Amino acid sequence: MKRIGILGMQGAIEEHEEKLRKLEGIEPVIVKTREKLAEVDGLILPGGESTAMGRLLNYFDLTEPLKHAIETGLPVWGTCAGMILLAKDIEGQDERYLCTMDITVRRNAYGSQLDSFSCRKEIPEISKDPLPLVFIRAPYITKLGQKVQAVAEVDGNVVCAEQENMLVSSFHPELTDDARFHEYFARKFV
Ligand code: GLN
Repeated sequence: MKRIGILGMQGAIEEHEEKLRKLEGIEPVIVKTREKLAEVDGLILPGGESTAMGRLLNYFDLTEPLKHAIETGLPVWGTCAGMILLAKDIEGQDERYLCTMDITVRRNAYGSQLDSFSCRKEIPEISKDPLPLVFIRAPYITKLGQKVQAVAEVDGNVVCAEQENMLVSSFHPELTDDARFHEYFARKFV
């Protein structure tokens, strides 16, 4: 049995938990403390509000232990705000959070008109059949470092990428009825 944690500060926590419960051999764990962090084999940083999550990470003294765990190989998947937490650079703001992944992100990149939308997209690394992608005030990646591989683009913008033990997606697979993305993280990273 492998344990996949979900950072339990704020945001779409239960939705990830529900998806992980559907996977064989995976036990979801809500992570709010250093002790729980030490128990997991992988971690999901959910979507929500990156500024709020960043503050809560500091408040609960989790920023440094989490950064250290990721830098020493803990598999991590950041969805939406989770992607922003992992980014080394955030356009237009000085505040940074975990700074472990060599990407620059643009927050709320789709502006007000396309604030939230969904589409279907083939992502060959994950599945032969198109996946449902749900974007909610989503960021996208505007710069990728040398070690970063783009996994999916929508309208020419990178919305999913990987670097070593880190996976990020602008969209929310936990808000669909499709568990293939969770399966991909569990199988390839954890
Ligand atoms: N707009 C949010 C942020 O900048 C992210 C939105 C989300 O996670 N759905 O943190």
